[in-house]
Amino acid sequence: MNQHESNLPNEAECLREDWVIVGRVDANGKRYDDVEQRHEVSISANGAVVQKGWIQEREYGCGHDARRPRGGRCGDPGCYLDSCAECYIRCSACQVGLCLMHVRYLDNESGQKVPVCSHCRDKIQRRRFWRKFWAFVLSPFVSFDDHSK
Ligand SMILES: [Zn+2]
Ligand SMILES: [Zn+2]
Ligand SMILES: [Zn+2]
Repeated sequence: MNQHESNLPNEAECLREDWVIVGRVDANGKRYDDVEQRHEVSISANGAVVQKGWIQEREYGCGHDARRPRGGRCGDPGCYLDSCAECYIRCSACQVGLCLMHVRYLDNESGQKVPVCSHCRDKIQRRRFWRKFWAFVLSPFVSFDDHSK
């Protein structure tokens, strides 16, 4: 069921329906969106000819207009959200593309925020934790060096 259904006149009084699907293509000729247009001609109860039109445009998962360039599909497991090019962010560790809901940020060594996926964030945080842990445990005895990793 689409949202127009409630606006439909009774079938008997509908004289004509035109449906137009407009497919948009990006710069590479790849199809990235459909725009649905629909026109309908009917006769109202008092005999007037009524013409109605609807145009329905799809949006990206980020909420932006589908006329923007497409970024891609989110790589988080179970999420298939499409984002526009501006909202599509890649994990700096594994390069998977992410939607705004699934991108996570970590501080790198120089204090800058870097985008990562949740999988890589967990991995990095665990590694940092153990590194700190062993540095702390061993510090009274040996100086911690990074060759052990
Ligand atoms: Zn967007
Ligand atoms: Zn990642
Ligand atoms: Zn996502």
